[in-house]
Amino acid sequence: MSLKVVPQSIEIRNNKIEFENLLFFIIDSTSSVKIEPLIGYDAIIIDSKDADFAKLILRKIRGHYNPEFYLKPIFLINYKESKDPILQNMNDGIIHSYDQLKDIADVAKQIFLKTTQLDYQLVATFEAQMVKKVLNYMYTRDLKTLKPIPDLNSAIGYTYPEISVNFDSAEETQVLEILGWGEKEGLIWPDFFERIYLCNNCNGGFLSYREVCPHCNSSNSSAQDLVHHFPCAYIGPLSDFRNTIDNSLTCPKCNKALRHIGVDYDKPSIIHHCNNCDKNFQDFFVKAKCISCTQDIEVQYLIPKSINIYKLTKRGRTAAANGFLSSGREVEDIFGAISMPVFKTLLHYEIERIKDNTEQKSSIAIINIENILELYKKTGKKGEKSILENIVNLVRENIRTTDFIAFENSSTLYLGLINCDYLQSEADLLNLKTLIEKLIRNNFNDFEVKINFKVKLLQPFNKSEFQLDELTKELFD
Ligand SMILES: [Zn+2]
Ligand SMILES: [Zn+2]
Ligand SMILES: [Zn+2]
Repeated sequence: MSLKVVPQSIEIRNNKIEFENLLFFIIDSTSSVKIEPLIGYDAIIIDSKDADFAKLILRKIRGHYNPEFYLKPIFLINYKESKDPILQNMNDGIIHSYDQLKDIADVAKQIFLKTTQLDYQLVATFEAQMVKKVLNYMYTRDLKTLKPIPDLNSAIGYTYPEISVNFDSAEETQVLEILGWGEKEGLIWPDFFERIYLCNNCNGGFLSYREVCPHCNSSNSSAQDLVHHFPCAYIGPLSDFRNTIDNSLTCPKCNKALRHIGVDYDKPSIIHHCNNCDKNFQDFFVKAKCISCTQDIEVQYLIPKSINIYKLTKRGRTAAANGFLSSGREVEDIFGAISMPVFKTLLHYEIERIKDNTEQKSSIAIINIENILELYKKTGKKGEKSILENIVNLVRENIRTTDFIAFENSSTLYLGLINCDYLQSEADLLNLKTLIEKLIRNNFNDFEVKINFKVKLLQPFNKSEFQLDELTKELFD
């Protein structure tokens, strides 16, 4: 039995190629720079004869907020070696002819597969969104590190292509902030690579370092040797020893001719002369003039920053597919709830109060909604906030006005139940559990939330933090 291999003829019609069920679009410098019509294509091939054009298109696609664009497989043809880090690093392959279509089709399919495994839960803050975007890109391309690349076009001199593509080169310092956030959240891990210094006025990294006069800050100075004449111990700049006629040197103090260096004189150091204020000085200041904002800064006031190579942590590697929640800051401003620090302070006062008044009983409670993230996934970030607000309203209506509520994060809340003993609190919480379940069921298509809670009597002689920790442990263990 013989197998016939029929070479698939590749037909390009109106810049389109159909190949193995994939629809490719070829962009060349005659194409529109609008990228929106590209959404319907499975992969893009950019003709890079015109490198500037290729760069522009690639930046637009990769810098887009929508994963339909920024995750799209992009290949380059007619690519000439370029210094642009984005063009170099943010493509999915380079081909020399359309005969290689089979290879890039395989790459495109691989990327698709990975794309379907991503978690598309919306995250709250700008930093979180940006980091999630970068993690998504890295996940679909099997990238494990973010590497800085020296780049003349970056305001800080370095570019991290996967992040920088989202910013103008002038905004490059934001990239460092994003990276700092990702590090703080435990998603990436830094390995020191280089230190840079930035302008303390505009964060620019293009600095011109000069030696300046300590008296007038002028950089207009000249240096000359300092001469020490041994016989008379005179020390002065070389020019004091010179005459206008020949190259011989004569001591201005004792009028003797200088003979041999090391024998009757030497040059112990260098002296600077300021051509602006006419003063002499031995040690100059080093100042850095910022090329972007022209501020002249003493070097000790520059902002030092580490440029690191970042590796994905375990949390970072799984975050693309599993999603992540950033710390609870964004749930603090829910009307009717207070922040955790305020909650702890109020609890502290309540402990003081019951200390003096032992027949007064108050309680603390924790409520955890185990599967509420499933719900947030459906509703998005806006929905998350309104769900939380509805829950707070409901809880508020069913507790006393002196009681207080705080969110630890978007699935866990604490209650301070004042003048409420254990049995009463337990009954209150059971009631709240039923009410919250009903609220969610009625508003979200019969979605069943799993609610766990725990109640404890407030102890008069224990710190509030300790008691909250105990309560939390008992719920989750
Ligand atoms: Zn500046
Ligand atoms: Zn001067
Ligand atoms: Zn002398």
